[in-house]
Amino acid sequence: MDIYRELLETLQKQGYQLVSYGDYLRDYKSRTHDTKKYVILRHDVDAKPENSLKTAQIEKSLGAKASYYFRTGESGCYKGSELSLPESVRAIASLGHEIGYHYEDMSLCGGDFGKAYDHFQTWLAYFRQYYAVETICMHGAPTSKYDSKDLWQKHDYKAFDIIGEPYMDTDFSDVFYLTDTGRCWDGYKVSVRDKIPQYQDEWTSQGLSWHTTPELLEAIEKDVLPKHVMITTHPQRWTNNKAAWWKELIIQNTKNIIKRIIINRPSKCDRKEQ
Ligand SMILES: [Zn+2]
Repeated sequence: MDIYRELLETLQKQGYQLVSYGDYLRDYKSRTHDTKKYVILRHDVDAKPENSLKTAQIEKSLGAKASYYFRTGESGCYKGSELSLPESVRAIASLGHEIGYHYEDMSLCGGDFGKAYDHFQTWLAYFRQYYAVETICMHGAPTSKYDSKDLWQKHDYKAFDIIGEPYMDTDFSDVFYLTDTGRCWDGYKVSVRDKIPQYQDEWTSQGLSWHTTPELLEAIEKDVLPKHVMITTHPQRWTNNKAAWWKELIIQNTKNIIKRIIINRPSKCDRKEQ
């Protein structure tokens, strides 16, 4: 958590505005060649919502605004948490942050479009009891064979007054993407869905790839980070508690091995070709 605060402070020192995804869509996206620096702060609340409340408090104390994407209560991901789902949503919203729906309806409904569409509407309405949700964001579900974004091949989320989805409405020709998926900043190598394949090679060839947060801090201080950035973090990974930090390290390193196997597994078409 301390280094997360340092990350935000370093960005601010270098002149970056720290904004939510909704604010990006409304006020920043149209200014493609704007020299004004900004970082969109996105959080996927995959587990431990109490950690998200801590990052939300840090951001509030620095005058930053972020977007927090929550999963459904029925996914079981918040079981045993210190805060209930409504408590977490209310507490983070009261700090001035944006709340959105971290949808995974296709994977939860076994790829059934009709069921997934109803499920999406039910949970969007659930979150709107607590916050006027305007943006949604896919949960990657690496072990599921269903990509929840596929729901938008048949339906349009804009019909629900949703103004955007980070994977679908961000101009990545202008916005550089960083995520802590895989518990490092270069986890795109093992990420199944949380990555921007069409630009990643270009960014890597430009040297825009770092593994640890101290390495990223050094890059920000040297002013080599692009002017427009989206940073996604999963607050359950960030903690000052040493035992929890080591546990996360061991579990995630094991998960990365599995994810690497999933990525390298030949698809049905590849197998036919062989
Ligand atoms: Zn997620």
